[in-house]
Amino acid sequence: MSGFALSEGLRQQRTTGLYRSRTTVASAQRPEVTVDGRRYLVFSSNNYLGLADHPKVIARFQQAANEYGVGSGASHLIIGHSKAHQALEEALAALTGRDRALLFGNGYMANLGAMAALTGREDSIFQDRLNHASLLDAAQLSGARWRRFRHKNHDHLVNLLAKSTARNTLIVTDGVFSMDGDRADLHGLSSIAEQHNAWLMVDDAHGIGVLGKNGGGSAEHLGLTQQHLPILMGTLGKAFGTYGAFIAGSDALIESLIQFARTYIYTTALPPAIAEATRASLQIIQQEPWRREHLKELIRFFRHSCEQLGIALMPSETPIQPLLTGSVAETLAVSEALAEQGILVSAIRPPTVPKGESRLRIALSAAHTKTQVEQLVNALDTVINHPSHQQKR
Ligand SMILES: *Cc1c(COP(=O)(O)O)cnc(C)c1O
Repeated sequence: MSGFALSEGLRQQRTTGLYRSRTTVASAQRPEVTVDGRRYLVFSSNNYLGLADHPKVIARFQQAANEYGVGSGASHLIIGHSKAHQALEEALAALTGRDRALLFGNGYMANLGAMAALTGREDSIFQDRLNHASLLDAAQLSGARWRRFRHKNHDHLVNLLAKSTARNTLIVTDGVFSMDGDRADLHGLSSIAEQHNAWLMVDDAHGIGVLGKNGGGSAEHLGLTQQHLPILMGTLGKAFGTYGAFIAGSDALIESLIQFARTYIYTTALPPAIAEATRASLQIIQQEPWRREHLKELIRFFRHSCEQLGIALMPSETPIQPLLTGSVAETLAVSEALAEQGILVSAIRPPTVPKGESRLRIALSAAHTKTQVEQLVNALDTVINHPSHQQKR
């Protein structure tokens, strides 16, 4: 691209209100962070269980760095696969009730690697229209024919499947939709997959750790075994509070990914200390169900309070509680007004969400107190219901 094309692209991005910029945070991921010397209460983080700065997770990270050093030095297949990685894979397999789990650098790479390894030109991929961007990119990379079905519309999916002449078929969905917070009907998808002799893959980035009695995610919550949900993907950068991702499933699946997933093979293994820190957070996830309980209580309280004030939230029982604002301009205005009140909530705009469906993506965490959620509710009341009462606007 020439210099002119770049500046024209940037200009357009600005005039349409779609310009993206970064907030530079000067403190740990906690409900309260410091930005430009000012304290803000944050409702944008995927740190759903408050583990990103948990003392036990930090301590294990430090100990493991002393033992293993910082870098893993190589890819898993060369000399980068440590006892720390192995132990975490075993713990993740146990948590999800699968034969095995395989660590990837991050969720984006796990999706690209798995889908491209499992499907090729003669195969078909069907995925929910609201699936995460990495799943759309993964389908593209795989070389398979792929189609999107309307959000949670299984009739549409079955119609598409009926017309398919593919060799192998993969159905892919988010377990919890990242920008909407609603859950996929995985029982329904599982039986459709079975009837059509297709694989089912679930990206549980927002379910793992949060859903299920032990934090095993959507699969545990719904009692879906490896047989019914053969390809389970989870990330470690959200509820786990660390970094990385995994695919869990049968021994044959994991061995195939080790042989054929290019984003597994041709990349440096995660730092071993990250794996150890993640094992510490996995223990907390299993041993401290109060975090999930407290989070559920906050979700109930938030929804109830909004309902009483006539603030219409999208239907969601998960920590992702979006408030549909519609236009880009309105979304930015509400987000900026909240920031003036000391509250950070991210404005989500196209192409992350469809045009006309811009929203505030409010994310709750077990690290929040009820008082902090009350502060959010009060700020929303001021900004949305009484805009004229605001100070500087
Ligand atoms: C965050 C996310 C990913 C990507 O995971 P990273 O580890 O951040 O790369 C993939 N899928 C979904 C649904 C996500 O929300």
